[in-house]
Amino acid sequence: MRTAIVVGAGIGGLATARGLGLAGWDVTVLERQPRLAGPGAGLTLWPNALRALDWLGVGARVRAAGAPITGGGLRTAGGAWLTRVSVGGPIVVHRADLHEILAEGVRVRTGTAVTDPEELDAELVVGADGIGSLFRQRYHPQTRIRDSGQVSWRSVVPADAMGGAREGGETMGPGGLRFGHLPMGARGVYWYAAAPGPLRDAGKEEQLAELRAAFDGWHDPIPALLAATDPATLLHHPLMDLHPVPPMRFGTRTALVGDAAHAMTPNLGQGACLAIEDAVTLAGLLARGLPVPEALQRYDEQRRPRAELVVRRSWQTGRITGARGRVTSALVQALARVAPAGAAARAAERIAAWTPPTESPLVTPR
Ligand SMILES: Cc1cc2nc3c(=O)[nH]c(=O)nc-3n(C[C@H](O)[C@H](O)[C@H](O)COP(=O)(O)OP(=O)(O)OC[C@H]3O[C@@H](n4cnc5c(N)ncnc54)[C@H](O)[C@@H]3O)c2cc1C
Repeated sequence: MRTAIVVGAGIGGLATARGLGLAGWDVTVLERQPRLAGPGAGLTLWPNALRALDWLGVGARVRAAGAPITGGGLRTAGGAWLTRVSVGGPIVVHRADLHEILAEGVRVRTGTAVTDPEELDAELVVGADGIGSLFRQRYHPQTRIRDSGQVSWRSVVPADAMGGAREGGETMGPGGLRFGHLPMGARGVYWYAAAPGPLRDAGKEEQLAELRAAFDGWHDPIPALLAATDPATLLHHPLMDLHPVPPMRFGTRTALVGDAAHAMTPNLGQGACLAIEDAVTLAGLLARGLPVPEALQRYDEQRRPRAELVVRRSWQTGRITGARGRVTSALVQALARVAPAGAAARAAERIAAWTPPTESPLVTPR
């Protein structure tokens, strides 16, 4: 049997391991953390990712674990709608649930930090080791992590914190502040906030106090969601991407998937979605029995242009929606108000229109 080693048991690594398993490979995932998947919040999965998850045979389970995003749009801090969109298709799911589903049946060796990719003994080696990728630093050090100058907070709160409110959506306010919330059914409500500035080094309680003050007076249910947040669950990250997107294969046996190759700012909610697309594309090429070097060459040709596009669009979206200046921020809101209804949704839908380039090995030939 052909052997593969995948480094990193995030969404990209686990999806790749599942895909390669379906393609008939013997796969081991090496993960430096002592346990699979740490704390997490919500995750938006667009139809492109759901099709890829169907290819992997887990789409129905992921849909059942998540909740559909049925409507929403963009609002001002006072609650006035700038745009109302009805985006059919995406779901929001708790990361822990997605990890659990993807990890089922995958051989993962936790507590195993890889220090030299060249020492790994396998026909195929996949770097799925995230934005700080050892693989990328070794094979393509020219690519740099680019800091957007914005930071995020995320958490999940009990569903009753919504009060009488039903819909999710995103809200823009002065000073480049943004707040989004998405009901996840029985799993509660996922909220995220973004603001300009550096990563805060204060404790979580102080950070939460800062958020409660910054979003005080914003429309319902924003203050209530922050009031219901347990500081212990607060996640805080800088918003960064990779520039330029590096090649997604090196030599004759090494590929990159997910954030290791194309970490992006989360403004379009597509980072993990593209990681799952990578997994399915790579596995599909190898399932066809192509020699590994040829499969990797085609993988890079198929994936890199798309990754570059989505990384760029995410970055540009963040520059616009996170605009800090009073004038720019007012201009963005005015433009959003007069933009043709559904323009933003159509742009998102174009990215979400991706379909797996090969048929899943799970589909039995007629
Ligand atoms: C605020 C925020 C919100 C987001 N929201 C969304 C969203 O709604 N929808 C969406 O699609 N995407 C979203 N994303 C992006 C998404 O989180 C990432 O794209 C995705 O998690 C990347 O998965 P990955 O497997 O490539 O990398 P990671 O999740 O970073 O996994 C890498 C793994 O490799 C392991 N590792 C690293 N180095 C080594 C080593 N040397 N040896 C062994 N193991 C190693 C790490 O421990 C880790 O487990 C968001 C990101 C942020 C920051």
